[in-house]
Amino acid sequence: MTNITRALKDVPCGKLERLSGRMMLALTSESPIDVIRERLSTVFGIANFSEAVVAKRNIEAIRETTWALAQKADFESFKIVTKRGDKTFPLNSDQINRDVGKHIQTLSGARVLMDNPDLICFIEIAPQRIFIYAEKIPAPGGLPVGSNERAVSLLSSGIDSPVASYKIMKRGVKLTYVHFHSQPYTNRNSQRNTEDLVRLLTRHQYVSDLYLVPFVEIQRHIMTRAPASYRVILYRRAMLRIAEAIAQKVDAHALVTGENVGQVASQTLSNMRAIEEVTPLPILRPLSGDNKEEIINEARRIGTYQISIEPYEDCCSVFVPKHPETRANLEKVREIESALDLAPLIIQTLEQTKRKTFKF
Ligand code: ATP
Ligand code: MG
Repeated sequence: MTNITRALKDVPCGKLERLSGRMMLALTSESPIDVIRERLSTVFGIANFSEAVVAKRNIEAIRETTWALAQKADFESFKIVTKRGDKTFPLNSDQINRDVGKHIQTLSGARVLMDNPDLICFIEIAPQRIFIYAEKIPAPGGLPVGSNERAVSLLSSGIDSPVASYKIMKRGVKLTYVHFHSQPYTNRNSQRNTEDLVRLLTRHQYVSDLYLVPFVEIQRHIMTRAPASYRVILYRRAMLRIAEAIAQKVDAHALVTGENVGQVASQTLSNMRAIEEVTPLPILRPLSGDNKEEIINEARRIGTYQISIEPYEDCCSVFVPKHPETRANLEKVREIESALDLAPLIIQTLEQTKRKTFKF
C-alpha cells in the first residue's frame, strides 16, 4: 500500500483501502485513468488490477450494473464469472452467473460462450463490497519492493545490469547502485547514462542512492603491475571489495551483477569463481542463464534498452587487454594480486566516492 501511494503521489485519486485479498483505490472525477494504469503496472507485488464499478448488495443492482458495463463493449458472445468471497450473500456463484447471464442475453441478443468469449464480466462478491469489471490488467507480480532486505547492484551503463537490477527488485529487494567510472579517461557519457538508468529504475522503488566510484587509480595500478591477461579479473576483484564496503555501510546483504555465463570471454565459470572469492556476500546473477536476445527483449520492455545503447566508454573497455584470461587459476590470481598494493588505494577510492540520491 505504501508503494502504491508513492507511485501515485502526484495523481489525484481517493482513498486506498485494504480488503480481503485485494486493495481498493477509490477514483474521483479528476482521476486520470491512463496515468493510473501506467503507474500501477510498474508496482511490484501487484499481479493484476481492474477498473471496477461498485454495485449495491442485491441481485437487481448487480444485473443493472453489469448490463451498464457490458454496454460499453462491442460483443457477440460473453460469459459471467462470479467469485463469491462472502458466503452470506443469498445466491451462490452459479445462480448469479445464470441470473445475470440471462439478463444480458435478453437485452443484447449476444450468446453465452464459455471458451474465449468477446466479453467477460467479472462479478466479485466481497464482504465489504460488490465489484463488477470487464478487464484484468496484468501487472508485473513479484513481491513489493522493501518486503525483502537490501542488496547492492553493480550497474554499468550496458544492457545487462539494469535488467538484472529490475529482476531482483521484482523479488522485493531494495537496491543501492554502484557505478565505477574512469574519468577523466572516459567522457561523462557513461556516468550520465548510468544516472538516466537509475532514474528510470527508481520508479519501481521510489528512492535510490547511486555511488559513483572513481576507478582510475586502481586501474592504473593494476595495469602497470599485473600481466595483461589477468587485468580484468583483478579489476573485478577490486570492484567487488569496494561494493562490499558500500554494502556494509548501507546494511545490504548481497551483491547483484548482470553477468551471464559465456557471454563475453571473461565470463567463464573459473573466472567467476576467481572474482567472487574476495567477498563473503552472495552474488546474485539473475541473468546467468539467459540468452542475449532474451535480455534485450526484457530491456526493451522495461525501457532501459534505449539508454543502454547510447554511446559510452566503459571503464573496463578503456583498459581492457586484447586477450583476457578465460580460465583464471586461483593460485595465480592470488599470487599476482599479493604483489600489488591495493588496500590503501581501495580505502582512498572509497573516500573519493560520491553519492547521488534519486527520488521518484
Ligand atoms: P553489462 O551489459 O551489464 O555492462 P557486460 O555484458 O558488459 O554487462 P561485463 O562487462 O563483463 O559484462 O560486466 C559484468 C557485470 O559487472 C555487469 O553486468 C555489472 O554488473 C558489473 N560491471 C561491469 N562494469 C561495471 C561498471 N563500470 N560499474 C559497475 N558495475 C560494472
Ligand atoms: Mg558492460
